[in-house]
Order: sequence, then structure tokens, then C-alpha cells
Amino acid sequence: MPDILQRLRDAYEENPASALKLLPELFQKIDEGRVGKPPCKCKHAKGRKEILLNAISTYGQMMQEDVCIEEMSELTKAIIKCRRIGAGRIKENNENVREEIADVQIMLDQMRIIYGDTTDWENLKIKRLKSRLSTVRRKYNENN
Ligand SMILES: [Mg+2]
Repeated sequence: MPDILQRLRDAYEENPASALKLLPELFQKIDEGRVGKPPCKCKHAKGRKEILLNAISTYGQMMQEDVCIEEMSELTKAIIKCRRIGAGRIKENNENVREEIADVQIMLDQMRIIYGDTTDWENLKIKRLKSRLSTVRRKYNENN
């Protein structure tokens, strides 16, 4: 893991607000190509797509949409709880958030099977985010 990402993670666990101070350095390293997209450590089990298809065909589209909504609300609740409780129990809460992210990811993968690939939309949104970040960075640099 690049040093800046570890420092960002450490700073966030210590005090989330303090991690913001590291953003200009992170942006700089991303621009220089020294920090890329973090590799996904998820070991996709062989047959994952078949399992997801099986879930959709077994429970039906409407049920899986309901579960997706339920899992998204659980993630929302976990994030809100993490923010409310804050320091002191961050590791325990982070684990809960990660579990809910996994639940949501599994349901989103099923939604992609049902509704179709989202790659084009993701690329468009990432491109737009990159543009917005450039604007934010430019304004930050003008004010500092
Ligand atoms: Mg859940």
C-alpha cells in the first residue's frame, strides 16, 4: 500500500477530520501516477455469477430488489452510527460498515444482472468527478 494511503487510513482512524489535511498530498500523488486505484483483495469465488443468478431465479427479482433496499438501509444505518459514535469505537464500527458494504455490493451485483451493466455510467460519473475534483483543487490552491 502506498505510504500516503496508509497515513490517510491511520489519520482517519485517529481523527477523521485530520485526514482532510492529507488530501492535497494524495491528489498530487494521484496526478503524478504514484497512487493508483487500490487493488481489490476480494477473492471472487468461482461461480459467483452463477450463485447470484441462482439467488435471483430462486427468490425472484422483486424479493432481491427488496433485499437490496434493506441492505442499503443497513449500510446507511451503519455509517450514521459510525459518525455518531465516532472515536473510541471506530474499529468495531468500521468492521460493521465493511460488512454492510459487502452486503450492498453483493446486492448491487445482482441488480447489474437484472438491469444490465453499469460500466458506461460509472465511467461517465468518474470522469465528471475527476473534473469536479480538479475545480476543487484549483480553488483550494488559490486560497492556500
Ligand atoms: Mg446487512
